[in-house]
Amino acid sequence: MKEDLLNNPVFGMAAEQFDRVADFLNLDEQVRERCKWPKRLITVTMPVTMDDGSTQVFFGHRVQHHLSRGPVKGGLRFHPKVDVGEVAALAMWMNWKCALMGLPYGGGKGGITCDPRQLSASEQERLTRRFAQEISSFIGPEVDVMAPDVGTNQQHMAWILDTYSTREGRFVPEVITGKPVELQGSKGRTEATGHGVAFLSARALNKINIPINGATAIIQGFGNVGSHAAKTMVAYGMKITAVSDISGAIYNPNGIDIHALSQHLQKTRGVAGFSEAEAIDPDEMLTMECDVLVPAALERVITEKNAPKLRCKILAEGANGPTTPDADTIIEKRGDIFLIPDILCNAGGVTVSYFEWVQNLQRFSWTKTEVLTKLETKLNEAFENLMQFCKYNKCSHRLGALATGINTVADVKRKRGLFP
Ligand code: GLU
Repeated sequence: MKEDLLNNPVFGMAAEQFDRVADFLNLDEQVRERCKWPKRLITVTMPVTMDDGSTQVFFGHRVQHHLSRGPVKGGLRFHPKVDVGEVAALAMWMNWKCALMGLPYGGGKGGITCDPRQLSASEQERLTRRFAQEISSFIGPEVDVMAPDVGTNQQHMAWILDTYSTREGRFVPEVITGKPVELQGSKGRTEATGHGVAFLSARALNKINIPINGATAIIQGFGNVGSHAAKTMVAYGMKITAVSDISGAIYNPNGIDIHALSQHLQKTRGVAGFSEAEAIDPDEMLTMECDVLVPAALERVITEKNAPKLRCKILAEGANGPTTPDADTIIEKRGDIFLIPDILCNAGGVTVSYFEWVQNLQRFSWTKTEVLTKLETKLNEAFENLMQFCKYNKCSHRLGALATGINTVADVKRKRGLFP
């Protein structure tokens, strides 16, 4: 059974979303099957020498969902629970995201099953380089372009760039995005995802007539996405009343000083213990009153259990897949929450990745202002198109966003036809 190979609740969720949308679009059986299943599932094992001299074998995966519209694009995640099913779901979502944003890519995602918090920098370097070496025959600027995701950052991208370039015998910056600016990374890439989340939250506030200045936000996850969303929101005049991460949750009704929190994080690696806020329960934080709730960590945090209790006006999905299909049904029935679906809300990252790839291919670089202005134009266009689509089709934002992405891919598959 195809499903057994990808037996994972996150894949189950992505497949359920897909089936709902395929029914809505009335996709014929053949195109439906071609769009649903990933083209390539690559699993490798990586023996790595640990700092104590022992050898540990890690599993890594790369899923290339489809290559019908261009190279696959998507991040590489380091997480203890990652498996091929989860990676396949994330790769599928990257498809619809790239198509929705009009980027010339298919979707991909990678994951290495490891806990980066337990690995030293040199162990991470050996693991990353070994992964890059193992999959180097399957990636490339026109085949598969990786980027950062949960648990990875520009340093990991630099190691992959170096490993790939050494193998090719020349500098190939366009093989990876989200790399340091010194290695031809794009200005604005690090903050792009969070910037997009904040920008779209402001657009949504505007749509429902809430003044941006003074609007409140709660952020679950304070990694690259959550922290940059918070910074941009504060720059807009918004107030971050609660933040959580793996260490716990903190609350300050007057607004958390994000700059001071970042300094605290540099010392302690977690938001817990920040002196200018009180400790609260991370689960209860999700149902506290606010204008914008930003889940910016992992999948399946908004479920049928907490969806009826949400007290936000806008749900801005910084993470991929934070809301289960059951929770979606509840939110849709409630009708009082403005959803900014993940594949739009967090698309700032992959959009600036695309800009980075374009700059690399042209051996040219843009200023940060140029990058962020182009990003905002693209996000705004996708946002307005979605609003129109949903109004015209009388459907939810989730369905509208997925339907736009899936329809674009289905159309390309139909037009290209099947190789006999
Ligand atoms: N990991 C990010 C995402 O899920 C960015 C992917 C990319 O830049 O290719 O969208």
